[in-house]
Parts: sequence; structure tokens; C-alpha cells
Amino acid sequence: MGIVHWHFAGASLAMDLTTPLTYVKGIGPARAAMLQAKGLVTVEDLLGYVPFRYEDRSNMKTVAQLAPGEMATVIAEVRAVKVSGFRRRTLGLFEARFSDASRVTLVGKWFHGGYLANVFAEGMRVALYGKVEFDSYAGELTMLHPEFEILSGEDDDAESSLHVGRVVPIYEAVAKLTTRVLRAFTHRVLAELTPEEDCLPEHIRRPLKLPDRWTAIRDTHFPPPDSDLRLLNAFRSPAQFRLIFEEFFWLECGVALKRSRARTLPGIAFELNDRVREKVKAMLPFKPTGAQKRVLGEIAGDMKEARPMNRLLQGDVGCGKTIVAAEAAVIAIENGYQVAVLAPTEILATQHGLYFKEILSKLGYVTVLLTGSFGSREKTQLKKLVAEGLAHVVIGTHALLEKNVEFQRLGLAIIDEQHRFGVLQRLGLVQKGLHPDVLVMTATPIPRTLAMTLYGDLDVSVIDELPPGRKPILTKHYTADGVEQAYSFLKSQIDQGRQAYVVYPVIEESETQAMKAAEKMYQHLSREVFPTLTVGLMHGRLGADEKEAAMRRFKEGHIQILVSTTVIEVGVDVPNATVMVVEQAERFGLAQLHQLRGRVGRGAAQSYCILVTEKMNDAARERIRTLVESTDGFYISEMDLKLRGPGEFFGTKQAGLPSLRVANILRDAEILEVARREAVDFIARPPSQEALRRAVAYIRDHWQRRYGLVTV
Ligand code: ADP
Ligand code: MG
Repeated sequence: MGIVHWHFAGASLAMDLTTPLTYVKGIGPARAAMLQAKGLVTVEDLLGYVPFRYEDRSNMKTVAQLAPGEMATVIAEVRAVKVSGFRRRTLGLFEARFSDASRVTLVGKWFHGGYLANVFAEGMRVALYGKVEFDSYAGELTMLHPEFEILSGEDDDAESSLHVGRVVPIYEAVAKLTTRVLRAFTHRVLAELTPEEDCLPEHIRRPLKLPDRWTAIRDTHFPPPDSDLRLLNAFRSPAQFRLIFEEFFWLECGVALKRSRARTLPGIAFELNDRVREKVKAMLPFKPTGAQKRVLGEIAGDMKEARPMNRLLQGDVGCGKTIVAAEAAVIAIENGYQVAVLAPTEILATQHGLYFKEILSKLGYVTVLLTGSFGSREKTQLKKLVAEGLAHVVIGTHALLEKNVEFQRLGLAIIDEQHRFGVLQRLGLVQKGLHPDVLVMTATPIPRTLAMTLYGDLDVSVIDELPPGRKPILTKHYTADGVEQAYSFLKSQIDQGRQAYVVYPVIEESETQAMKAAEKMYQHLSREVFPTLTVGLMHGRLGADEKEAAMRRFKEGHIQILVSTTVIEVGVDVPNATVMVVEQAERFGLAQLHQLRGRVGRGAAQSYCILVTEKMNDAARERIRTLVESTDGFYISEMDLKLRGPGEFFGTKQAGLPSLRVANILRDAEILEVARREAVDFIARPPSQEALRRAVAYIRDHWQRRYGLVTV
């Protein structure tokens, strides 16, 4: 660090990474506000905002030198602009004519480019980059949809050499700040900054041949002249690799530290004697699979230890996670503790409530369900039961997390469908006990690399075996004109004594609409298509009693076809149902379809899923193809992540996914693996206590807040 620096009444004597961007020349309050809205506050933030693409503008030509077929950059002046065609503002064809000192004309064309009329004006100097073509009809050189950059008139030479004549970084605009403006700021900052010491330990850098941090930052923004453009655009130049690695490395170090810290906390050492084992056995309604036994062994092992368990129980839909959780609950209760079960939706909480009540009442345990839909009098009474320790198991939605829910002796917290809850919510529940054991269950398989990062502080148990006698579900796809075939197949199954679901899409906020569609379809199916069969209807607007009644009638076989919205997505368990028809399947997400499909195939008979689609785009076609091909939840989940990207896959930030800058968890999965290995090794065997201490301090200062590795 070497030099002394301080900030003084808004004037900085030396710039360093912590300098606020407002102090950078040219960034006033208005621009700083735009940058801040993107999370860019300090010089370090700006340097972390890396180009998403690079352009080779070193092949600079005059217009006269352009040859058809080549990719080239020219700088020329706008001579004339015009918009033509139908619905000009949005759909029109925009054409601009350019020329330079060579006086030859180049025409740029943009379809749907009407908006460009407000961007280009006669006399502007513009850099254009694209493929040169020759329009033999008009006898003109053209570029179709070239990349362009408006070069302001008053540039000095030093500035304009930044933007052309080299490999040029392209940034995503930040509000009104164009790539060009961002490029200039970044360049200025790099010129003024004094290089700081590299925090990445030398013994990790050297074998991986990582450039030092300063070089990496500089070369990522302004690649040296001999750079490989393809590597750059694949984010694999040595400089980019180093920055991506670094980001993952510190993240994984943070995760590893958190994990080792959790291991030193005092916890409950549950006793696992013959009496407890007998109770567990007495509760089981069937013989557990090998995978279930193994996983319970792992869980019981954790529970015996005098430190809190932090375990993720992963397994595909229908593999039988619930019974394993119930076994763990018996161990806790027999040791005199209470158990909390947190579920993401009312239906799932209700289903768990019924399931646990049924199997645990045999042992004389009291199970309580607590959800948002209870009246306040009822809630108060239930909470009292919990606080006084009279309830052994408490199952609920986020209503469980409310402050006034108190446990007498919470010993085990079971959290289902973890990724819908944030890390903080997990902590919220845990704090209701004194370092209780935590078991997180997820039915949505998460790709391995992601699981390790998201749940890096958890140990993982996987149920990779279905209960005996299950056959993989066969999935077929019909377009809407083929729906008759789907129905006649459904009928043939019912004639064999089976039952079926017909499901309608529901889009989050429009359960009303979905309900109407389901109601209409119910009328249609019961009167016209299957007049001789018993058809039932189920949707979210039914009262709790009506829902339960419909479910019961279906379970008992009185209803042969259940028409439903996606309220059945989780929790419904009717082994005799062997057909599921999903209407408008193109409107469902991949994970959701996989979950839905998991409602059939729960018994020994061959089950079928029929996806009926109306209008499909490419993404929908990919989704349907994936489901027809595979019943492997992990594969489907990987595809889902690929098709949607990490942001959407996890919903919002509250899912606990760290916000990465340079790295992309999908694109850079293999770098993540390397970084993780190095990080785990570094924390377990630091070269010196001093090196470890420095790393911890560095993580605390730089990464903790962003990664959400908050210690409470
Ligand atoms: P999920 O893992 O999706 O939560 P469930 O716990 O709901 O799966 O189990 C799916 C179905 O399989 C349930 O009906 C459950 O009773 C049944 N089941 C689970 N394990 C076994 C087993 N070992 N033998 C027979 N049936 C089982
Ligand atoms: Mg324990």
C-alpha cells in the first residue's frame, strides 16, 4: 500500500479503491446517483463493472478501403438519415448514410430502428463496426445492424484513441451513461490509481499462473494489443480468469469459515438408545429403502454430536424425504425436545400436518399446524400450546417465524423447500431454540456446483433411490389438435380402474382466471367428453374444507378425474392416479412441470404424463423436449437453470444467492470448482496463521456484506 492517502472535505489527495466515485473527475452528483442505483459507489465498484463484450477495432479502414465480406471498423460522419416503412417508430427501417475523407458512401441499415432517428443527427462522427456488404442493386456499400458508437466532436486525441484503433471494451450502459462514458471513467481511474498489494496468496497464484490483481483489472478493461478476441469474449483471457477465480475464491473461503465456525458451536447431544430406536421402528408405516436408511444414519450421527446439525436432505420428488424427517423428529421428541417444521406454502404445510399427525399420533405425540389462515383466537391458543411445551411438533408456514411464536425447548428445526426461504429466515427459526439441530429438505434438485455454494455451510445427504416398485413415468407431448387422443388414452386408463389429473396453468396472481378456466374445463369434460365418469374440481379459491373434501373423495376413489389448477403441485399423494394431463403445458416452468408430474408414478403401476401445448416459442419447445426425454430431476434442474439463468431460477436475491460481479455461476462453473478446492484447502491448512488472519480480515472488509455471510 505504501503511500499515505486521506480524503479531505471532498477533495482527495490520492485515489484508492475506497474513494467514492463522486470524487472522480467528470462524475458529478447526477452521474454518481445513476451509478449508485447500479450498486457502483466506490472506485473498486467501478473497476468491478467489467465489459460484457469486446470489439476489435484495430482493423481501422477508410470507407474507400472497405471490402465486402469483411468485419471492419470505420469512422465516418453522418450525411443523411431516413426512416421508412410501416409503423415507423417501432417497426420502421432506419437508414443512415455515412462518408469520410475518402468521400465514398456507406449505408447503415437497421430494421425496427425507428428509435434511432433520435440518436443519429447529420454531422455526427460515428464509429461503426460490422460486416461490410455490397448492395449491387443500389451500387452501395452497406452494413446491416452495425455496432456503433457516437464520437463526440471535441475529443482530444488521447481520448479517441481509447475508443477506436484497438480492442475496445463494451460496457452495458448504466442509465444514461453510455459504454463510451463508462470506458472513459474507467480509463481515468486506472491512470490515477496506485496499484495495491495483491491479496490473493502467492502460493495459490503461482501454480495457477494467475496474473497479479492489478494487471488483471487493467487487462480486463483495456486488453493489451495482442489479445485473443475470442478468449476475451468467452471470458477466458488470463486477466478475466484471475478476476473470476478471485471472486469465487473469497466466496468459498467465506463459506468454509462459516462452516468451520458452525462446527465449534455448542449444540444438543441427542441420545440414541434402544428405546428411541424402538419408537422409530414403531412409527414406520413401511420398510425404508437403503437410501433412506443411509441418510437417516447420517442425520442420527449428527444429532448425537454435541454440536448443531446443519444438514441438507436432497432428493427427487417422491423419493420419500418426509418419513426420514419424521424419524429425526422422533429422536428429538424422545429426548424431550420440540420439533418445528417450516414449509413454504399453506398446502404443503397442511399436507405435512396431516402426514405427521397420522404417523406420530401412534406414538402419542401432539402435532400442531400453524398457518396464516387461522383466526387470531385460534392462533393464540396454539401458540400457548407451543410455548408451554405441550405440542411436540409444530408445523407451519412463515407464520412460525413471527416473534411471538415461542418454543419451550426447540431441539430440531426441519425446513422444507429451503431455496424459497432466505438464509436469514433459516436463522430466524433457529434462534427460537438454543442452537437446535437443523435439517433442510429440498425437493427441487439443485445442480451440484450451486448446491455447494448456496448451501456450502451445510452437509449434504442425498436420497438417490425411489421406493420399491416404482417405474419411471412415461411422458408424451400432444399439440392441442391432438387432445382427443390424449383423452381417449386417459379413458383407457380409467377403464382399467386408474384415476387421472387434468391440470390447468395458474400464473401467480391470477388464480381467479385459472379457476375460471378450470371450471369451464370441468363442465366440458364432465358433460361432453366423459359423461359417464365422475369428474371433480379443485382450485385455490375453494375453502379449506371443500379442498379437503375433494382431496378425500379423490383419494378414496369416488372421483375418477380431478380437474385442478396447480394447487396440487406439492403434497398430493394418491398412488392409484396414473395419468396426468397438463393443458397449456407451454406456460409452465420446467421445475414446476417436473413437480407436477411427480403427483403420478407414486404406486407400482406404470404412470403417464401428457403435455398438451397450444402456442410454443423456442424456450417452451426446449422445456417440453427435456421432460419427454428425462425423468431425472437433477438433469431437469440443470436444464432449467440453463434456460432461465441463475437470477430467475432462484427468484430474487433473498434466495441467498450471492451477487457476483465478474463471475457467472453458470458460465464459470468449472472455475468455481477450482476456486472451491483451493479455498477449502487454504482454510483447512493455511500456510501460516498470519496468512489466515489476513484472509479473514480481507473477507470481512470486502466480501461479507455482498455475499450475505453475515455472522449474527
Ligand atoms: P418427497 O420426497 O417428495 O417428499 P414423500 O415423502 O411424499 O416424497 O414420499 C412419496 C410417497 O412414497 C409417499 O406416499 C410415501 O409414503 C411413500 N414412501 C416413501 N418411502 C417409502 C418406502 N420406503 N416404501 C414405500 N413407500 C414409501
Ligand atoms: Mg446435535
